Amino acid sequence: MNTLYLKSFIRCKRKAWLDFKGKKSYEVWSPHKAIDKINQFQIFSKLCNGEIYTGLKACKNGYQGVIGLKIKGNFFKNIKAEIRPQLLVKTKGISKWGSYTYLPAVYKLGHKTTKEHLFDLTFSSILLGNFQESKIEKGLVISSSFNKVNVEEIYFNKKLRKKVLNIFLSLNECLEGVIPEITQDRKKCTICSWQKFCDKEAKENGYLTDIDGIGSKTALLLKTNGISNAQTLASYGEKKLGEKLSKFNDQKYEKASIFVKQAQAYVSGEPYCISNKKDTYDLLKKTSSGFYIFDIESNPDDKHDFLYGFLKINNLFTKKADLIYEPILNLKKSKGESYKQIIKILFSNKEWSVLHYGETEKIAIINIAKELNFSFEEIDSLSSRFIDLHTLIRKSWILPLKNYGLKTVSNWLGFKWAQKNVSGSKALYWWIQYQITENEIFLKKIIQYNKDDCLATLQIAEYLVKNH
Ligand code: SF4
Repeated sequence: MNTLYLKSFIRCKRKAWLDFKGKKSYEVWSPHKAIDKINQFQIFSKLCNGEIYTGLKACKNGYQGVIGLKIKGNFFKNIKAEIRPQLLVKTKGISKWGSYTYLPAVYKLGHKTTKEHLFDLTFSSILLGNFQESKIEKGLVISSSFNKVNVEEIYFNKKLRKKVLNIFLSLNECLEGVIPEITQDRKKCTICSWQKFCDKEAKENGYLTDIDGIGSKTALLLKTNGISNAQTLASYGEKKLGEKLSKFNDQKYEKASIFVKQAQAYVSGEPYCISNKKDTYDLLKKTSSGFYIFDIESNPDDKHDFLYGFLKINNLFTKKADLIYEPILNLKKSKGESYKQIIKILFSNKEWSVLHYGETEKIAIINIAKELNFSFEEIDSLSSRFIDLHTLIRKSWILPLKNYGLKTVSNWLGFKWAQKNVSGSKALYWWIQYQITENEIFLKKIIQYNKDDCLATLQIAEYLVKNH
């Protein structure tokens, strides 16, 4: 039993169980975890003015910050436990090492201090207190905003300690039992290292939350009405279902129709075409004399777009090998230069449409145009050239997929990324690695990834046009 299982357990019971007993070969490396670790170390280092050392020896030497310490002990009724505090921060007091003591600290991404932070700190404080022979009254939550390190103090009261004890006992029971069910809140799964493993099981069992648009609450509502899996939903009458979906008010019949059709597509593996000839005809017209595909890689925590990729297409049916791809890196110090290049590309073919997947790209260009003091009319004319294929495909097709993300849709269309197991988070991980090491290999990987994202978007455009 350790802090890592406790943290997983708070997020998803099944995750804690899998971390403890799951077959490691089913687990996929998560860039989120790695990014978190890098950010964490940088902020901790800033907090301790670079005086961070590893292990027990660092505590004995009384360094300001200590990482990588594992402490074993009995938590309750002789249940063996282990803590791995993210950081120990030296403070005034008396401990077995001398006239100082350590407080546990955790890293927080974003604004909200969650149960995960509170329970992690409280759990650590109990074992650390015994170990350093000095009771701990508070822990620290460390975050950063605008390059400043923020420290929030959390005082441990009786209520919090009791909660941690209860959760610890539930965790112990869970780890000794059989594998828990897949979480109802599937949003949690998007950054989980067991996602592939759980997705397979969800698909095999026809989980309702696998159907696009059905979250935990709607799944529960359907279950109370006797619809417990995708197969049952697929064969349900649309009108009958609409009557049961009163929570959607005026949209209840429309929602029911989409849910049933989405389930039918999911079960049969066949796409369903929603008549939307006008939009796809429009796409054909707007791409006939050439167009761009545009895709951005960004660091959302830093609010920084680090790569803008353009694919130039004279004709939708041009051979892939003949397409021109232009990546524009946005290194912070040369921001103005990158903007100039983007505008130059966009205005070298003023009439061309810009196809993209999702809303980010259009928003980014509008922001750049504003920064460059474009007039209202110029911004309006520029933004009218953008066509969001994500919106378009959702309006035109019901696909046999669990979501309409770029990867899911283009994979289904047979598109293959040149690099294995890639994602936007992996590109961000490479970007962070590049900033630390300045090794160009990371830039090459990001550029290859972005080019493939553009080609995947192109494949979706081709599908829309060919099947309109
Ligand atoms: S993929 Fe989802 S259900 Fe599976 S362990 Fe992770 S969070 Fe839990």
